[in-house]
Amino acid sequence: MKCPFCSNTDTQVIDSRVSEDGGTTRRRRRCTACERRFTTYERVELQMPAVVKRNGTRSEFDVVKLRDSMNLALRKRPVSTGDVDAAVAGIQEKLLLSGLREVDSRYIGELVMAELLRLDQVAYVRFSSVYKSFEDIGEFINAIDEMKSPEAP
Ligand SMILES: [Zn+2]
Repeated sequence: MKCPFCSNTDTQVIDSRVSEDGGTTRRRRRCTACERRFTTYERVELQMPAVVKRNGTRSEFDVVKLRDSMNLALRKRPVSTGDVDAAVAGIQEKLLLSGLREVDSRYIGELVMAELLRLDQVAYVRFSSVYKSFEDIGEFINAIDEMKSPEAP
């Protein structure tokens, strides 16, 4: 950590304290060159990366859309809600742990396909055959919504 006063890069941590909620660590530091003291706060950054669409625009990662698209592909298939939850959580975790600030929408599509392939091959084929021709998961859902027959439950 660089000293904010003299820009020296060598500073000593003289005290570390975790906040009451456990989310922040407060560190008291001392510069070894100018001896001045300053405080830094450290927190875990858990932020989903933004999704970059094929046309270059960005949107927020939407877990509801992700789940909806998987549920549509899995409609009337023998896969439990718990398994779908675990697959969705697995995808979110991969994206979080990637540390990336942006991901390509196609990459998310591939993560979904990998999970569906594991869960149910019919759902995998449904998803991959339709998804590949769309801009993103939201567009995929819109298209499937339009295709839904009125008597469908
Ligand atoms: Zn200094």
